Amino acid sequence: MPGHGPRDEIEARERAAFQLSLRQRGIRDNNVLRALETVPRTLFVSDGLEEHAYADRALPIACGQTISQPFIVAYMTQLLELDNTHKVLEIGTGSGYQTAVLARIAKRVYTIDRFRTLIGAAELRFNALRLANITSMPGDGSLGWPAQAPFERIIVTAAADQVPKLLIEQLAPDGIMIIPIGAQGGEQKLVRIEKSAKGKITEKPLIAVRFVPLIAGRAISL
Ligand code: SAH
Repeated sequence: MPGHGPRDEIEARERAAFQLSLRQRGIRDNNVLRALETVPRTLFVSDGLEEHAYADRALPIACGQTISQPFIVAYMTQLLELDNTHKVLEIGTGSGYQTAVLARIAKRVYTIDRFRTLIGAAELRFNALRLANITSMPGDGSLGWPAQAPFERIIVTAAADQVPKLLIEQLAPDGIMIIPIGAQGGEQKLVRIEKSAKGKITEKPLIAVRFVPLIAGRAISL
């Protein structure tokens, strides 16, 4: 369907260059490339920032939070080795952009954010994109989502001091979790955690990253 608004024009112009840069930077998983191609990032950035939607940087969203840099979204999604049989838990819904990318590949996505406002805004976007395989709720993601566990994949998009124990418990055998670990403003590393079929945990630190902090506690009505 041809678009007419400013968002559509920006989309068309920026999308091809964006795909090329992802390939050049090592994103090879076709599911990931296709998902990023079909989720319009302009829909997830704040009004007035549409022209920066495809710049490779994090951008501010409501509640003092950020939408992650697009390369990091692609990189983390690729590390999850996702397919359409997976049930995924995401902690840190934010704008919902990473959620939408996951939902294009996985069977079902459960996502949690501590800000009710962000959950409400993200749900409107999921509906607009007709993404029917996402369930979201406001809450403390460091507790996971026990009623829906176990999850074949878990992705955390806020930085924790250490890996939340409850998330490890809710990871299925043969599961993969991707989480940034480290202090706010200090050194943070993306860590890939794998649980073997027998439940053995291995952790592998990867690239340096910069995320807002994972903050425990009740959901905030903001
Ligand atoms: N993936 C998001 C990035 C969001 S930034 C995007 O692409 O837009 C990280 C998010 O984690 C913020 O929205 C913040 O509110 C949320 N967060 C921080 N601590 C949390 C917690 N304990 N439980 C759930 N969400 C949390």
